[in-house]
Formats: sequence, C-alpha cells, structure tokens
Amino acid sequence: MLSKGLGVFAKGAGLLIILIFLFAVWRYYTTSGFGKDYPSGGRLTPAQKAMDITAYDFDIYPHPENQSLRITLRVDFRFPQNIPDTLLFDFIDGYDIVSLRFDQKPVTDYSYHNNRLSWRMPASAKSKRNHYIVIRYGGVPPRAKQAPWRGGFVWKTDRADSTWLTLACQGEGGKIWFPTKDTQTDKPDSLTLRITVPKPYMAPATGRLLAVDTLRDSLRYQWKSRYPVSTYGINFGVGRYTALRDTLHSKRPQTVPVIFYSLIGDTAKNRFLLKHLKQLTHVFEPLFGPYPWPDDKLAAMQTPYLGMEHQTLNAYGNRHHYRRIGGHTIDFLMLHELAHEWWGNFISTADWADFWLHEGFATYSEALYVEQVAGKEAYLDYMREKMHSIRNHAPIIAGKNLSTTEAYNGDVYNKGAAFLHSLRFVLGDSLFKNMLYHWATDSTTRGGKTVVTADFLKHVNRYTPAPQDSLFHFFLNTTRRLEFQVDSVTTNRYRVLVPGIRFPLPLQVGTSAGIQKLTIPPGGLIIASNGYPVIDPEDWYYKKETLYTWQK
Ligand SMILES: [Zn+2]
Repeated sequence: MLSKGLGVFAKGAGLLIILIFLFAVWRYYTTSGFGKDYPSGGRLTPAQKAMDITAYDFDIYPHPENQSLRITLRVDFRFPQNIPDTLLFDFIDGYDIVSLRFDQKPVTDYSYHNNRLSWRMPASAKSKRNHYIVIRYGGVPPRAKQAPWRGGFVWKTDRADSTWLTLACQGEGGKIWFPTKDTQTDKPDSLTLRITVPKPYMAPATGRLLAVDTLRDSLRYQWKSRYPVSTYGINFGVGRYTALRDTLHSKRPQTVPVIFYSLIGDTAKNRFLLKHLKQLTHVFEPLFGPYPWPDDKLAAMQTPYLGMEHQTLNAYGNRHHYRRIGGHTIDFLMLHELAHEWWGNFISTADWADFWLHEGFATYSEALYVEQVAGKEAYLDYMREKMHSIRNHAPIIAGKNLSTTEAYNGDVYNKGAAFLHSLRFVLGDSLFKNMLYHWATDSTTRGGKTVVTADFLKHVNRYTPAPQDSLFHFFLNTTRRLEFQVDSVTTNRYRVLVPGIRFPLPLQVGTSAGIQKLTIPPGGLIIASNGYPVIDPEDWYYKKETLYTWQK
C-alpha cells in the first residue's frame, strides 16, 4: 500500500504523465510533420542525377477488400550524359515485386531496401542511352495518416457504403506507390494510366480520358497526358462518381472540357463548384496566361480530405465552406488549388526549399481574385488578414536541397503572399502584373522545367531598373520585420527612417497633402506635413508598429 504522501505524489505524477501525453498528442497533430513518414526531395545521388525519366505507363488494379493495389508499370528513361554503374529508383519498402525486366531482360539480382530499388547496370546496356523497365508488383500502400499533410491512400466508403479511394502524396512523392525518381526536377514527358475497377465504379485520373473499356465485370479507364507532371501530381480516384461537365472557352483557340467528379449523392450541391471552377479560370487567365493543360481537362474531384493540387484533377474536400466577399460567393479551397495549376503544377520548384513559389503564389492569387471581383479595398483587407496570420518563427526559405518535411512551414503561404504583395507595391501595378503574367508564360519556365527563387529574382529584375536582391533576401531569407521611425524635426517637418535597411525602400506615406509613394534612402528622408505622417497606410508591408519620436 502506498503511503498517503506518496499516494498524492503518485496521483500528481499520474496527472503529469497524462498531461505530457496529451501535449505529445497535441504536438503530433499540430506540428507540421509534413510528409514526415517519407519525406520527398532533397539532394540527389549521382545515379539519380544521371537518369531522366521520360514516360510512365501504369496498369492499376485497386483491391478495396484488403486495401491493396496490383500494378504493372513501364518506366522509360534515358541517360543524357553519364551512364551510371547502378540503376536506382526510389520506391518505398514493403511491396511484393512479382517481376522486374530491364530492356526486356528479367532482373533478379536487384536490391530492394531502404526505400530504394537498385541493381547493377549490365555492361551490355552501357552503350545505349534509352532504356525502360517493366515492373509488376503489389501490396498495401501507406494509408494517409492525416491527408493531405501526412499523405498516402485514403480508403473510405461513401454514404451509400460504396468504396471511395483517393490519394494525396505531395509530402511523400510518388515513391510511396511506384518506382520513380523522388525529385521535383524530373517530370516525365508523357503519362498513361489504365485503371481497372468493378462496374459501375468510375476512376478519374490525371490527363485526358481516351477510352473506357467494358470488360466482363469491370471497367478499364484509360488516361493519357502529354504534359510534364510532378510525381505527386500523378493521381487517380475510385468511387461512385459522376462527371458534371461544362466547356471552357479558354484564351487559347481550342475549348477545354471542364469536369467536376462528384459522388453521385452530392451532385446537386456540386453543380455550383463546376460553375465556380470555370468562372475562376476566366478570372485567372488574363492575369496568369491561358490555362496550362488545354489538351487534357480542367477538373476537380470530390475527396474526403481538404484538398491538393493534382494536375488536371485537383482534390476538393472543402465541403462547400464558402465565403461571401463583395456580394460574391467564393470557395477559397477551390480557388487556391486552381491557382496551383499555374503556380506549382506548371511552374514548379526544383527544390522544396522554394515551397513559397507554389504556396505564396497560390495564396496571393486568392487576393488577386478578391480584387478582381470585389475591388481594391477588399484586396487590401484580404492581404491584411493574411499578414496577420504570419507566424515568422523561421525564414520561409530555410536552406538548399531541402526535403518537403524540412522545407514546409506555414509561412510559405501567408508570408510568401505578403512578399508578392510588397513586391507589387515596389514595382507598381502595371509592371508587377506584366511581370507576373510573363513568369507563367515565358519560355524559360515552360516545358516541365523547374525553377528556384533565384530564377524568379532574375525574372523580376528584368522588369525593374533597381535590382530587388536585397528585398528578396530580407523577406524570404530572414525573419526580420520592417521598422519605421518618424522623428519630428521642426514644425511640420519629419524625418522618416527605416532603421537597419541599407537599400532604398519605396514607401507609402500619408501626409496632410495626401498619400504619396516615396523612396526612403538608407539615411532617411525629411518630409513636410501638417501633422504626423502615417506610414504605409494601405499596409503594403509586413512590419512592426511605427515608432514616433518627438523633437529633442
Ligand atoms: Zn497550396
């Protein structure tokens, strides 16, 4: 029996243990941990660098009864320069490999562990640059722990108890379900997916639907895309879907099919989303250029998880949580994922360290949309809201050659958007809009090429006489916040200073003469005003409170 004192202590210790446990659970779910079970990206090995994957061709058989997949996959690739001694694919452990062929010949001496599949390059194959593998495998793919942040496959049943299978793996990359090169920098030039499902299930996927073959008890959906796509962008779903359809008269000569894959029971509610998707695209095209995938489709698919930018098949699980701004009904999840078709899917980062090039741009696109439909004041308010949510615990670019898990930080959204907002002020509206449009449409960013922040800086500097290197560094690579100081010098004369900033900074200042855009040199600027000037009245910068001092 415990002594009383010890009993109280034990109770206290028990409570403490429970509290620690609850805290650990809370931390587990609230820290990003993005993709942390299988982080994607990072530095490539020489064997990976040497390989350029040109095509994936999948035959997929989902088995909901045991939540497994059976897949036959052909991967075409080439070695543009060096031919390595080892063939190496990223592919997580745990699948049963039934057979593996390399250029038609069976491979038996492969090694498959540590999430890698590799074997020695046969001497006879070293004279050729183009190769392929055909691999047959099966198994239970990782289930998403908290899609889309900790991703994988999501096996559910819908309200009618039918199978509902979806996938989200941005943080993990395609390697969680197929052999690949786990990097943003290698997109295939073509993609084929054949998905066989029992009748009457539907299997929406990336690309354009070529055919639906009727087999005995099943249907085979054949999808094809000739556009480059990130490995996490390769996606499919299986469910009792129906395709709600419309047509986009895009800025291009051709029309684009617009589709919302809705669960059959939810079509009435989802019709608005189909209309919304098309209308959002009409607003984005003049700002960012024509919709990037006209040969495939413009589509979203209902998912049980919140959302994800899957090229030509965005995941939508926002459950119709709309906001009304300026008399307009807006689904910000739909809007955000659509913006990623330009920022993320078309213009993709080479390195996850530059995550903000996806998320900052998509978040800023939300504000641009608000401005288009509800005006400048609504835009400024929306950006104030975003800046208010910045945590600023770490720079949004935290290094180089980072994995998804290392790079992900909530500020890549809001601080990334805030930076673009400030950049717009610095450049002025018309230069900024021109710059943004061409970032999406210039040839340097086309054809599956991936980019880093330095490419964006180079692009921006083409549009402005003053190089913006210092501004980029300040907002993206540090957690410093702008500080403004206003000193009263003499009657109606004030010095505006930006302490610690060694570059001229454009700044909006409200004086008795009205609002002006001034450039504050590193030593400060004396301005006249009948009364204290107001610094950055429209909030173009993420900043600290202005410090006002009296004349000494
Ligand atoms: Zn996003």
